[in-house]
Amino acid sequence: MLKIYNSLSRKAEDFKPYDLRQVLMYTCGPTVYSYPTIGNYRTYILGDILLRTLKFNGYIVKYVMNLTDVGHLSGDNLGDADTGEDRVEKAALEEGKTAKEITDFYINAFMKDLAVLNISTPSKFTRATEYITQQIALIQQLEEKGYTYATKDGIYFDTAKFKNYGKLSGMSSEQILEGARVEPNPEKRNPADFALWKFSAEGTNRLQEWNSPWGIGFPGWHIECSAMAINELGESIDVHLGGEDLRMIHHQNEIAQSECATEKTFSKYWMHGAFLQVDGKRMGKSEGNAYTIEDVVGKGFKPLALRYFYFGAHYRTQQNFTWEALENAQNSLLKIYEILGSYKLQDGMTPSQKYRDLFEETINDDLNMPQALAVFWDLLKSSLPESEKLLTALELDKVLGIGLEQNVAYIVPSAVMDLAKTRDQYRKSGIWDKADKVRKELFQMGYVVEDKSDGTFRVKKQF
Ligand code: AMP
Ligand code: ZN
Repeated sequence: MLKIYNSLSRKAEDFKPYDLRQVLMYTCGPTVYSYPTIGNYRTYILGDILLRTLKFNGYIVKYVMNLTDVGHLSGDNLGDADTGEDRVEKAALEEGKTAKEITDFYINAFMKDLAVLNISTPSKFTRATEYITQQIALIQQLEEKGYTYATKDGIYFDTAKFKNYGKLSGMSSEQILEGARVEPNPEKRNPADFALWKFSAEGTNRLQEWNSPWGIGFPGWHIECSAMAINELGESIDVHLGGEDLRMIHHQNEIAQSECATEKTFSKYWMHGAFLQVDGKRMGKSEGNAYTIEDVVGKGFKPLALRYFYFGAHYRTQQNFTWEALENAQNSLLKIYEILGSYKLQDGMTPSQKYRDLFEETINDDLNMPQALAVFWDLLKSSLPESEKLLTALELDKVLGIGLEQNVAYIVPSAVMDLAKTRDQYRKSGIWDKADKVRKELFQMGYVVEDKSDGTFRVKKQF
């Protein structure tokens, strides 16, 4: 039985989705105005591991991730999401591009990163700008029920009207805002109230703005997640994820909007990933340590080494990134490829049920990846037949996603194997120049051939 820690109850709970077979899952995705950092990817890996674990447990998963391409203001990091500049507008103006050019570019970059990190693609990505009508409809629902009020700069949610406000964060709205570093908007009835719709400033034209029953403007940051989750997954979902910084305000506000509109529990389980730090410090652009996947690759690392690195800490504890730790992770990963690459596959073997069960126990224990890796290494060190170890490793890789199929030497595509056989025939017939030509061809395809003393050969993927 899968157990996960539910931020709502602050307890590890048995995972029981509404439907016995299908899980409805939502993750807050990136704001697409710059390259995501290795910190952000720690959170997306958490989503990926949950998704893979659910599938390993036999569930079908409907998984939505949003792409925030409007309305995420810079003030949210200061504790007040309704102030500051729209990140996308700012980036577009700075780079002299349209908002769509900016968001398309960073969405594309995000997709490439997901692929190289082996992060499974959600069933659907939703872009906030494609759900404006739904966001307006949700705000209208809230308005009809009396949860909203207007100020000079927008339509706000009245948090005092939602009795469960603060349930997720465990804090009252005053406590939440106590640490805020900005002056709250004096027109707000309560400092925790938040914008559902913001008006475009008078006399200015934003790059992205829409008509609404309240005036021209754009949706607040929080409403997009409620509208997209409800429209794509329904009014009650099973599990909602994000980084720990979203728990106090963004997710609290998502709950308030959704539950006041639908009168149903929005998400049964809430999961939050702890932050990644760099060299023991907070990551940030101004700190110069907001590393991207490009930085990781630029230093000669495999993106999957980063994936492996993340598994070194439980998702609910902070993790510290150093280049040295990444190097250790890469060494371990290459060692795994090497060990498995030296094994031979025999017919008629099946994966080990014992190791599958041991592994499942660890991932089902609130996604305990450090322990799951320990089970994986125990498997490699065990005295099981090589072939059984290989097959089991491939089975466990359905969750780990460390690229065994692509990277373990013994798994060679048949076209490559055919070429290697041709080369072997040339070699055995003494046609050295042709044998050499094929060897070079294989090398260009990423494979090396080793001739053994007993006259056989082996094809290996090069690293
Ligand atoms: P953003 O693009 O800022 O909206 O963030 C996208 C996701 O990354 C959110 O779930 C954040 O909570 C998460 N996140 C931001 N910084 C970090 C970090 N240093 N470590 C882990 N997750 C992070
Ligand atoms: Zn969200």
